[in-house]
Amino acid sequence: MKLADIAVMHERTFSFHCSTCGKCCNSSPLLTMAELFRHQDRFIGCLSLRRVHPSHPDARELAAMLGHVLPGGDSLMLAIQGVDYPSLAACPALGDDNLCTIHATRPTTCAVVPLDAWTPDALQSAVLASRRNGAAYIGADCISEGMRDGYQELVRHGRITSPAYAAALAQRRAVEAAEKAEWGNAVFRLLLPELLAAPGGIAALPVEGYRTLALAPVLAVIAAGSEPDRLRCLAFIDAQVALIRRHAAAAIARKQPVDRPVTATLRGFEAVLLSLAVRLREGQAVTITT
Ligand code: SF4
Ligand code: SF4
Repeated sequence: MKLADIAVMHERTFSFHCSTCGKCCNSSPLLTMAELFRHQDRFIGCLSLRRVHPSHPDARELAAMLGHVLPGGDSLMLAIQGVDYPSLAACPALGDDNLCTIHATRPTTCAVVPLDAWTPDALQSAVLASRRNGAAYIGADCISEGMRDGYQELVRHGRITSPAYAAALAQRRAVEAAEKAEWGNAVFRLLLPELLAAPGGIAALPVEGYRTLALAPVLAVIAAGSEPDRLRCLAFIDAQVALIRRHAAAAIARKQPVDRPVTATLRGFEAVLLSLAVRLREGQAVTITT
């Protein structure tokens, strides 16, 4: 975004009212590993890699706090992402009544909706302007430019003016920074040489492009921490393999062509997780192949 555009955005005020219609819960959220462990029987997790090119000073500061610097200066954001089937178009935690079935323990990223924790506060107006017109929000009418009866002010003059949302953003960024320290830095060091060398790897990933991998590198790093961590990761792999098999069987029964690539991806994740489990059970050193 150009500085002139940012200056215009700063002047804009946005307000928000959630009617709990569930339209934005149309896919699995980002999670922390702690959240995924807690919900290991509901969400299938993968490691998501996103390349960003932060140009605003606040964006560079946030990328340094949450991301990893790539050769050339771009940042790589590592995150745990839930995987779901496109034909379902719903988060696995969304109930038939369109309410979240795990509201009390929902991922911290859900509490910042409709804001984005990876965007600095000064640019949240642009997020809201974009999401107001986005597919998930069309028909929901939950984001309004300016103040409106029954809506709470979220953003004004480049600041988050809702104390609840400011706190939710701060919490989400804090847990992401903690995860970066717990496993993110080690996973980045582990993966970078292979990702840089691989054809179609990070070097070929465009800015704002995504790539997803099985969770094996994250689990290998966590399992190396202690014996309870190793056992926790093994129990998690058992739960994820069972969940993948249930989801894949249901997808095959639905016979939706749009779901087939996801089933193939999940089968690949299953094979990688089972291979990791063998090595973790035997106490072998774990090498990672992306
Ligand atoms: S789309 Fe808007 S109104 Fe509907 S649940 Fe999401 S935030 Fe709330
Ligand atoms: S976990 Fe709950 S709030 Fe978050 S996307 Fe899923 S249904 Fe929506």
